[in-house]
Amino acid sequence: MGPGPIDAYPSVLRALSAPLTGQYDPFMTATMTETQVLYRQVWGTENEATVIVDGTSRAGIEAAMVSLIRPGDRVLVPVFGRFGHLLAEIAERAMAEVHTIHAEWGQVFPVSVVEEAIARVRPTLVAMVQGDTSTTMLQPLDEIGEVCRRYGALFYSDATASLAGNPFEADAWGLDAATAGLQKCLGGPSGAAPLTLSPRAVEVVTARKRVEAGIREEGDPQAPDFVRSNYFDLGMILDYWGPRRLNHHTEAASMLYAARECARLVLVEGREAVIARHVRAGEAMLAGVRALGLTTFGDLSHKMTNIVAVYIPEGVPGDAARAAMLEDFGIEIGTSFGPLHGKVWRIGTMGYNAREDAVMVTLAALEAVLRRFGHTAFTAGGGVDAAADIYRGA
Ligand SMILES: *Cc1c(COP(=O)(O)O)cnc(C)c1O
Repeated sequence: MGPGPIDAYPSVLRALSAPLTGQYDPFMTATMTETQVLYRQVWGTENEATVIVDGTSRAGIEAAMVSLIRPGDRVLVPVFGRFGHLLAEIAERAMAEVHTIHAEWGQVFPVSVVEEAIARVRPTLVAMVQGDTSTTMLQPLDEIGEVCRRYGALFYSDATASLAGNPFEADAWGLDAATAGLQKCLGGPSGAAPLTLSPRAVEVVTARKRVEAGIREEGDPQAPDFVRSNYFDLGMILDYWGPRRLNHHTEAASMLYAARECARLVLVEGREAVIARHVRAGEAMLAGVRALGLTTFGDLSHKMTNIVAVYIPEGVPGDAARAAMLEDFGIEIGTSFGPLHGKVWRIGTMGYNAREDAVMVTLAALEAVLRRFGHTAFTAGGGVDAAADIYRGA
C-alpha cells in the first residue's frame, strides 16, 4: 500500500508464467499487435506508434527523450516533484539545453505559468510528469497540449504513476509522446514501459534513423542525427513493432504477456470504472487517515486518486512505525524523498490494491500502530468507520 510497486493482479501473475516464444513466433507477433490495440484504448489514442519498451518505466522515459531530443535542442521541464528532476536530468544527458521552472512541492502549475515559460524559452519539447508520487500531485495536462501546438513544441508526459487510475486522453489533450510502467495503477510488475507517439513525434524519431537491421547504412554515429542509444532508438523500436518487423532486441515475452494482461483487465472492467474504483478507494483512504487524526500534505484539489501523503504525527518514529506495519501486518506503506524526507508517509491505493478490503485492513493496522507509538488523539475505530462511510455512500 505504498507509492508503488504494488501487488499485481492474480491473472497478471499467471500471464507471467505462460510458455515463452521467440521474437518472430507468430504467437509473439500476434500478441504484440493485440497489445498495441489494447494500449491505444488505455492511452485514449489512435496513434499507430503505440508500443511497449522493454525495461522499467524509466526505459520508456529515456526512449522518448533521447529519441525526440537532438543535442542542443531547447527542452522545457516544469518540475513539481522528484520525477520532474529525473526528466530534466535525462534531457541533460541527451545534450539538450534544459530549462526548468519549479512549483512548490504539494502544488501544480497553472497553465498560464507553463505558457509564459514556453513563450520565453521557445522549446522544441515540453516534458512534464502527470502524477508525481513524490508529492502526490496530479498536474492537469488537458490544456497544455494546445499551448505546445501553438508554439510549435512537442509535448511529452510521464504518466507512470497515474495512467489507468486517473484520466488520461493522449489525443484529446494533444500529447505527442507519453510513457508509463505497469507497477502503479496498471497492477503489474515493473519491467515493461507502455509508450505512445503521435504522428508528429514519429516524424521526428524516424527522421533521425540511420540504422537498418542492425547494420549502419550511412553517416557518422557521433553526428547529432544519431540517437545516442541503440536500445532506446525509437525509430528502430518502431521498425520492430511495425509491419517491417526488423530485428532489434529480443522482445521480453513474459513482460509482454503481463503488459497485455494489465491492459486487458483495464478494458474488461472499463476505463471509467477502473478510474472510479481508484477515486473511491482514494477517497476512503483519505477519509480514514483524517479520522485517525492525521494531517494531509499538499493541495488536495490536485491530489492523484491513488495516493495520499500524511504528516507523521509529532513524537511517532516514522521508520519504526512503517516497520511495524510491515512486520506485524504484512503491509508496506511509503516513506518520502527530498524536502519531505522523514516528514510524511505515502499511502497508495492503486491497481489491484484499490479495493475496499485493502483500504479497511490498512486503516485498521495503521490505527493499531499509531496507538502503539503514542498517537491516540482519535476515536477508536474511526478510520475504518470513515472509510466504510465512503464505501456505503454515506
Ligand atoms: C514510479 C514512477 C516511475 C518509476 O520508474 P521506474 O523506472 O519504473 O522505477 C517513473 N515516473 C513516475 C512519475 C513514477 O511515479
